[in-house]
Amino acid sequence: MKRIAVYPGSFDPVTQGHLDIIRRAACLFDHVIVAVSENSPKQYTFPLHERVEMIRKALGSRPRVGVEPFSGLLTHFVKSRKARILIRGLRAISDFEREFQMALMNRKLHPDIETVFLMPDEKYTYLSSSLVKEVAGLGGNPKKLVPPNVSKRLKALSGRRKQWKGIASP
Ligand code: ADP
Repeated sequence: MKRIAVYPGSFDPVTQGHLDIIRRAACLFDHVIVAVSENSPKQYTFPLHERVEMIRKALGSRPRVGVEPFSGLLTHFVKSRKARILIRGLRAISDFEREFQMALMNRKLHPDIETVFLMPDEKYTYLSSSLVKEVAGLGGNPKKLVPPNVSKRLKALSGRRKQWKGIASP
């Protein structure tokens, strides 16, 4: 039986930390589905189709990894893909409480789904999508933090925002 793992997240946008986790998961499982979430109360910087496209482009052709959008209950998505493994990344103690809570809730909903935590290379442990956006928004270079296609998108976004501010201010 194929061991299929689902790696869910917002990926708003995908960072080198996420890609590190995807690579590690692809070494452990037969197939990895990166599941990009659309959760209505959440405000995303990039629309769903762009978040999906950015990951696809960053990964290039990897036969063992797929990227799919999803909404609704994560465990329903996992079941629908005949998977039993959920991947989450753990960066620091600060991630632990929330991740632990989610893993136990998912276990309560579907005891046969197992959550597996992977740690990225230590050079990515400080990295988050929101920090990357903050750096890029303030004019910092996000080049080493995200794949090149995402870096381009972030620069374009911060350029547009600056332009907009210029027009808006008297
Ligand atoms: P979510 O909204 O589900 O937290 P994220 O895109 O922020 O979506 O994160 C998805 C998963 O990737 C989470 O398990 C998170 O802990 C993990 N993650 C985020 N950034 C990193 C990183 N730099 N290194 C390793 N894992 C990460």
